[in-house]
Amino acid sequence: MANDASTVFDVVILGGGSGGYAAALRAAQLGLSVALVEKGELGGTCLHRGCIPTKALLHAAEIADETKEAAEFGVLATFQGIDINGVHKYKDDVIAGLYKGLQGLVASRKVTFIQGEGKLSSQTSVDVNGQRIEGRHIVLATGSVPKSLPGLTIDGDRVISSDHALKLDRIPKSAVILGGGVIGVEFASVWKSFGVEVTIVEALPHLVPLEDENSSKLLERAFRKRGIKFELKARFSGVEYTETGVRVSTENGKQIDADLLLVAIGRGPVSAGLGYEENGVAMDRGYVLVDEYMRTNVPTISAVGDLVPTLQLAHVGFAEGILVAERLAGLKPVPIDYDGVPRVTYSNPEVASVGISEAKAVELYGKEKVVTLKYNLAGNGKSKILKTAGEIKLVQVKDGAVVGVHMVGARMGEQVGEAQLIYNWEALPAEVAQLIHAHPTQSEALGEAHLALAGKPLHAHD
Ligand SMILES: Cc1cc2nc3c(=O)[nH]c(=O)nc-3n(C[C@H](O)[C@H](O)[C@H](O)COP(=O)(O)OP(=O)(O)OC[C@H]3O[C@@H](n4cnc5c(N)ncnc54)[C@H](O)[C@@H]3O)c2cc1C
Repeated sequence: MANDASTVFDVVILGGGSGGYAAALRAAQLGLSVALVEKGELGGTCLHRGCIPTKALLHAAEIADETKEAAEFGVLATFQGIDINGVHKYKDDVIAGLYKGLQGLVASRKVTFIQGEGKLSSQTSVDVNGQRIEGRHIVLATGSVPKSLPGLTIDGDRVISSDHALKLDRIPKSAVILGGGVIGVEFASVWKSFGVEVTIVEALPHLVPLEDENSSKLLERAFRKRGIKFELKARFSGVEYTETGVRVSTENGKQIDADLLLVAIGRGPVSAGLGYEENGVAMDRGYVLVDEYMRTNVPTISAVGDLVPTLQLAHVGFAEGILVAERLAGLKPVPIDYDGVPRVTYSNPEVASVGISEAKAVELYGKEKVVTLKYNLAGNGKSKILKTAGEIKLVQVKDGAVVGVHMVGARMGEQVGEAQLIYNWEALPAEVAQLIHAHPTQSEALGEAHLALAGKPLHAHD
């Protein structure tokens, strides 16, 4: 550790996940002196227990599916099964490579990295390893952990969280997944490809309930076709151990037996016992409250990432961390438009969106002012080649900009970059229709959807 007792850093950051390390890197880049305190591994949830490991599993799952379906493409291959140790090795190698790179990056920017569990000890200091680290400014970035329900104990064996699921040394025969949000749906997709009989239990009327209803319905249709079962509007009422696994009950009287239960009902903030409230930071149910510049009510303290009640996504953490660093360095960053944040569920098929849903647009602008268009991927050559089904749905304010893009289908996550430009630059359908898309690509489907919305459909019926 580089500092001595007399050092006062420009910024002390508590938590080295996506939000914290992005703030550290940007602040250091702007010439501020930075201490970054992390009790676990630099990179946090996303790198070690979230985005990266799940996407590696999903890629292994995709290869399993492609091997099983190879004959449909005239390729002779035999699917022999999943070597779970091999899958973990592949996944862990990806993480290790990125982890090493990140450690090198933080060191190269001259950020003082302090390994240890920190606690806010005043409005300008963090205590760690028995030492007081002073900062002109503090950034709280302690992230989140998996949540459970009252009376539902996660034992790490038969009742598990996503943390355990990512390290599972066996492939269960069957699993119940509690929660049909992004994390639950992604694990359902992986496990089904690995041969697990999966049932999702979701209390709300649809899977991925934060998405436009059309996307939820398309995903449900695809999951049904894949043999992934789901119970909607089904509230969990209890779980008991059976001889070989668990029996999950719902309030509507259903009982489902399985080898294990994955609890994926969301994540809660890490803030208890860390001195936040004691030092006057305003909180709500464990979340730290911030304004659009990520300022708490205490002038010297900011907060970012999953700890604050905004979208729990790594790229949101990055953006919030960067915003804080730029503000502290005296730049004038603009607040984040959270509707303009791209959202991707990396299941098979993928669900990707940016902007607002049709329902929200109707709420904001009135039904008569909202125009929608659905472009079926069946008309897109590359999607046909990939044998994927799905749709791109556009939501437009009548005679105005496109305010929502909602996509379902293989690899649609890769199309969200263009969709994001369309939303964030408030593009008119006619303007996007001007742009020539390469043929045959899936991005062409976005182009064609806008051609149709602009009144001149090409590979689509009038
Ligand atoms: C299974 C899963 C899949 C996901 N997939 C995606 C995805 O595909 N795309 C996406 O954008 N997001 C995804 N996410 C969400 C993403 O991981 C989080 O939004 C992101 O990690 C939040 O970053 P953060 O910095 O706020 O918190 P975290 O990453 O949780 O980091 C907080 C850090 O603070 C440290 N810490 C906590 N308390 C202390 C303390 N007292 N002292 C020192 N250090 C402390 C922790 O050890 C941790 O490293 C996924 C999450 C999960 C669980």
